Amino acid sequence: MNAEMQATTKHLREYDISHPVAAVVKESTRITPLQADVEVRHIVLEVSDGGLEFLEGQSIGVLTPGPHDFGNPAHLRLYSIASSRRGEGGKGTTISICVRRCFYVDEISGERYPGVASNYLCDALPGDRIQLTGPYGHQFAMPTNPTSNILMVGVGTGIAPFRAFVKYIYEERKGWKGKVRLFYGARTGMESLYLNDVKRDIGQFYDQATFKAFEAVSPRPHLDMPIELDRLLIANAEEVWEMANDAKTYIYIAGLEEAEKHFNKAMSAIAGSETKWKELREKLIEEKRLFELLY
Ligand SMILES: Cc1cc2nc3c(=O)[nH]c(=O)nc-3n(C[C@H](O)[C@H](O)[C@H](O)COP(=O)(O)OP(=O)(O)OC[C@H]3O[C@@H](n4cnc5c(N)ncnc54)[C@H](O)[C@@H]3O)c2cc1C
Repeated sequence: MNAEMQATTKHLREYDISHPVAAVVKESTRITPLQADVEVRHIVLEVSDGGLEFLEGQSIGVLTPGPHDFGNPAHLRLYSIASSRRGEGGKGTTISICVRRCFYVDEISGERYPGVASNYLCDALPGDRIQLTGPYGHQFAMPTNPTSNILMVGVGTGIAPFRAFVKYIYEERKGWKGKVRLFYGARTGMESLYLNDVKRDIGQFYDQATFKAFEAVSPRPHLDMPIELDRLLIANAEEVWEMANDAKTYIYIAGLEEAEKHFNKAMSAIAGSETKWKELREKLIEEKRLFELLY
């Protein structure tokens, strides 16, 4: 991450949580198959008091009720909005998120603990009330000009903002003329969110002249081998390079930090050297055409 990008990264305690809004869980669907190791859920929330105004690419905050460890007053975690500005299914008062049930291992005791917010959300049932804050993150917004090209690179739950982009462009806005490309990596085919057999609402319905989705999975998923996202980008080098050099292209990278590593590795190979990619990368940042949402 470069200095300018870091400057836009806020610590969680800097987010304004003073005006939370109440939401009710309308739907919670597991979107990884039951036999997959990882549980990711698509959660639809109905926001009271007329809803929330947001744009594709923004995130919302979820406040998990306490008491919390170490006397922390609030447990705030951010989730990328997976629905377009019109809400899930075009219903303005709803918002959807895509949540991975997380666990972490205590380095000292070696014990495995459930992540607080993700387990709270994944355990929530229809009818349960949730406190939301935000929305946050204006810097990860899609271009408004329909001739712009969009190059999206993500891993895991990083697909959430791209689902919102694609839904908005093809289901609501219609008539998008620029190229839209999604390069997506998952550990296994079963973890290909919104692209697998459980919920396949990206790719299948938008395979028009302008949209293409490419997927990479790990060659040895059980040994935690890295996803071959870099190879996938390299396999499409000509188009990726042409798009990156086109002033009408906006590039988005989302998900765990490995997404950025894959992208930089692939782009250095495509450019012919790390230095050449660094030069173009600086230009992209200067022209505000490269955005990252990493966690
Ligand atoms: C801008 C932004 C957008 C985000 N969008 C999403 C999203 O759309 N979906 C989503 O599931 N998470 C998203 N996250 C991560 C989310 O905010 C939480 O960090 C995550 O759910 C863990 O919180 P927790 O309270 O359950 O776990 P904690 O009690 O805080 O424990 C965190 C543990 O979970 C691991 N972890 C955190 N996130 C992930 C992940 N996505 N995949 C694998 N391991 C993880 C951490 O390395 C750590 O070991 C986003 C984060 C940011 C900053």
